[in-house]
Amino acid sequence: MKPLIVANWKMNPVKAKEAEELFNSVKHGVKDIESAETVICPPFIYLPLLKGLTLGAQDSYWEEKGAYTGEVSIAMLKEMGCKYVIIGHSERRKYFNETDEMVNRKVKTTLEAELIPIICIGETGEEREMDKTESVLEKEIKQGLDGVDVSKIIIAYEPIWAIGTGNPCDIEEARRMKEIIQKMVSKNIRILYGGSAKANNAEGYLKQAGFDGLLVGGASLDPKEFIKIVNSN
Ligand code: PEP
Repeated sequence: MKPLIVANWKMNPVKAKEAEELFNSVKHGVKDIESAETVICPPFIYLPLLKGLTLGAQDSYWEEKGAYTGEVSIAMLKEMGCKYVIIGHSERRKYFNETDEMVNRKVKTTLEAELIPIICIGETGEEREMDKTESVLEKEIKQGLDGVDVSKIIIAYEPIWAIGTGNPCDIEEARRMKEIIQKMVSKNIRILYGGSAKANNAEGYLKQAGFDGLLVGGASLDPKEFIKIVNSN
């Protein structure tokens, strides 16, 4: 399978015109790159404007419709052409109090709608220092994936201390973590790396550490850098 390079634009850019320009630059740059699948996850409101690359969402809600002010359902995302949905990103867990139980409901409704969930797991720096990394990941996997057919999901290992810090996880350590996660899931599923992935380290995660793709935040807002990442396999 081709590596999956997923752009998480988070709450950027502020203007729709900038979103279209960024998308079109990426689209133009990756059009001849067949060795990877590129996915763009913009803020919800830009989804209908962006055509020509695979789209994903940064979150979803588990109910299909109704009185849930501010939420966006999987049915809506499907209609907008999304193929993937990021679920349980650490920023959702931290700022919006998302729990593993909520992650679990979101994963299930995503799969029911035949979209592909990308479930983010990862430890904080403090948890790592206290030697709790494995127990944190185990809990996120056990509770987040309870009752889920794991053969249809993707996991993103995103050490929280590496996200947006410019301090990526050491390649060898990332390789070790991938093996641990694979064992915890006990199936050969796709696992992505995320956390300060850049053009200068992407190849290491894909080739040396053996990840099946990358989840890219900050660097996905710079089309040149992002195209280099897509090209790095
Ligand atoms: C992310 O937010 O998923 C992420 C990996 O961000 P960054 O690449 O900026 O560390």
